[in-house]
Amino acid sequence: MAGESQLWIQGEWVEASRLVPLENPYTGEVIAQVGYASVDQAKAAIESARRTFEDFRHVPAWERAHILRSVAELIADRAGELAETIARESGKPLKAARGEVERTVQTYLFAAEAARDIRGESVPMDAAPHGERHTAYTVHQPMGVVTAITPFNFPMNLVAHKVGPAIAAGNTIVLKPAEHTPLSALVLAKLFKDAGLPDGVLNIIPGDGKELSEVLTTHPDVAFVTFTGSPRVGKLIRAQAGLRKVTLELGSNSPMLVDAGFDEGELNKIADETAAGAFSYNGQVCISIQRIYVHRSLYDRFTAMVAERAQRLKIGNPLDEDTDISALINQEAVDRLSSWVKNAVDTGAKVVTGDKIDGRVMHPTVLTDVPENAELSQEEAFGPVVLIAPFDDWRDAIRRANNSKFGLNAGAFTKNIDHALLATQELHTGAVLINQVPTFRVDQMPYGGVKESGTGREGVRYAMYDMMDVKMVAFRSG
Ligand code: NAD
Repeated sequence: MAGESQLWIQGEWVEASRLVPLENPYTGEVIAQVGYASVDQAKAAIESARRTFEDFRHVPAWERAHILRSVAELIADRAGELAETIARESGKPLKAARGEVERTVQTYLFAAEAARDIRGESVPMDAAPHGERHTAYTVHQPMGVVTAITPFNFPMNLVAHKVGPAIAAGNTIVLKPAEHTPLSALVLAKLFKDAGLPDGVLNIIPGDGKELSEVLTTHPDVAFVTFTGSPRVGKLIRAQAGLRKVTLELGSNSPMLVDAGFDEGELNKIADETAAGAFSYNGQVCISIQRIYVHRSLYDRFTAMVAERAQRLKIGNPLDEDTDISALINQEAVDRLSSWVKNAVDTGAKVVTGDKIDGRVMHPTVLTDVPENAELSQEEAFGPVVLIAPFDDWRDAIRRANNSKFGLNAGAFTKNIDHALLATQELHTGAVLINQVPTFRVDQMPYGGVKESGTGREGVRYAMYDMMDVKMVAFRSG
């Protein structure tokens, strides 16, 4: 692919400071030599984005919307090829990679719609005695340069959740994709150029996060930092960014509740959705189901149903059509997760199925009786491991679901309206999904966490407004 060993700055391919080999996580084969940016090159990208902003901020909304719609169409035209790129670099099974590309198209279309509907509000000045005889309203204005730092697990759609709103708002961008998955981000350079985006609005600089984070978060020309990734790095970025506005979309260990009263057919359906929600992309999803609390009357049956589905999943090469489970992103992830499973088992957990490693693949694993203080109960697994525990009382299940430093999405299956209402009121998470798994997301919904799951919201329109300044305008009369 043209440009994979280069950087995309000011509408041109630029020689990188060094080349770093990129491996397919499943085969271990080197699939590209990726060009990494130096700190000086990141600085140059930010400064050129800042200069471009002086023109781009005058580009009208209809034109920005047109560019975003065009890029969505170009991505849709190349969906097959893009899904393969994602599968090769991330180890995401092809079926899931296709789903990601379809969602990416939607995300850019939502961004196009959002761009055409940026609205302020009128301000009732005479509500204060000394505000009489003023007419006032707010306008939303673009902020300038947005730096975007993205994770490996949804390398196209999570980039779209930053690039789409930034362009919709009229900002310029410097994007640093994850080390593991730069290829699907670099493809955007040509696609956006073909869609008519002016040079310099989108700059793409693969590189080492540790090396580049300081310049990306502290350069005086950076107006806004948007980060999706681990809580550990999120905290570092928060500390570095100072007074700058920052969005942090971080990790979780998502809980799900299953109440009493479901018949066999209904429970089977919930188990199908649970297997998808816990094991899709090998569990490397920030809202992957990690902890399930099931009413004791259904506990044994439901545990068996989930385990049976876990065993049926097909393990293999991400590029094979029928693969469900493939390699974790790197050996470090395999080692971390298997040591957490071992620690849980050593302190009383039971393995219902799984707990087996083949190369970099971890078999889908279902555990019960995991102590509440085990890493797997407290930390983010970010792998194909799900914990199931029984409850007797709905309030107690909610309390246990809340016993986490994270709070992104929670799901609760119940036929009891009082239980549903209580769950919406008491679950301390960014979203509560009733009769749905916590892994559910559509790209226009407000999305983000509480506690260590982050601050700010994505979901195109919400991110777009976050990336704009509110300006208050008043006219005095009489
Ligand atoms: P990561 O934090 O290791 O890396 C994310 C990005 O940060 C990469 O681009 C990386 O280069 C960069 N980075 C690494 N070290 C850095 C540093 N010291 N300073 C600045 N940047 C640095 O995360 P990952 O392993 O790529 O992704 C997995 C994590 O992302 C999980 O915790 C997952 O839950 C989270 N995630 C959250 C959401 C969400 O929307 N809330 C979505 C997807 C993933």
